[in-house]
Amino acid sequence: MTPQQLRQYLTFYQDLGVKNVYRRSLALKSPVAETAAEVAVQPDELQPLAPFGDTIEKIREDIGDCRRCRLCEQRNKIVFGSGNEQAHLVFVGEGPGADEDAQGLPFVGRAGQLLTQMIENTAAKEGIPIRRPDVYICNVVKCRPPENRTPQPDEMEICGQFLFRQLMVLRPKAICAMGSTAAKALLATKDGVTRLRGNWHKWRDIPVMVTYHPSYLLRPYNQDAKREAWEDLKRVLHFVYD
Ligand code: URA
Repeated sequence: MTPQQLRQYLTFYQDLGVKNVYRRSLALKSPVAETAAEVAVQPDELQPLAPFGDTIEKIREDIGDCRRCRLCEQRNKIVFGSGNEQAHLVFVGEGPGADEDAQGLPFVGRAGQLLTQMIENTAAKEGIPIRRPDVYICNVVKCRPPENRTPQPDEMEICGQFLFRQLMVLRPKAICAMGSTAAKALLATKDGVTRLRGNWHKWRDIPVMVTYHPSYLLRPYNQDAKREAWEDLKRVLHFVYD
């Protein structure tokens, strides 16, 4: 790789909001961030980031049998994402739970069933002819955090490189960020979902609607949140498919 190519790669990621890049050979227990300058002195060791002519297949290949952060230690399957790669709408969650980790697919557990119902029932009621396989669904982190804990900032940053590449390749008409981890990853904000939801935001030039995570909606006392999530979804579906 020439210094000029390297600069282009690093600028691309800087534009995406990525502050650090990581080499594949990082020690498992201490994912130490390396500055762009440090990486630049050893360009041969930098893994191919492939921002130009990127594809979903290339991103999955680059993830490989990922060992870039501690989440690899207890995962069973990497949960890359699923759905229609031509989708106009992408849903982003937090990270895989137990069912997703076992199957290697996003949102297949209880929260996933609720998400499917929400998408399909709302679309049907609104006369929008889409079903779950018509959209694309992925997460901020691709490996299950132990005990379903919230992903840590370094884990989000490392895996976020792949989420950003997925979104760049998919280029949907809108993104629905479900829960505060997805909102933080995409909008670099400390605001919570209650404050962010119901309004349009942007990830690069793509409109983002923040809404409640389906797991939150599964809790019995969240009737208001449920109603609001349905309103958010209606808005997203009409924006994308009308
Ligand atoms: N919760 C998430 O955030 N993602 C999944 O894939 C499943 C549950």
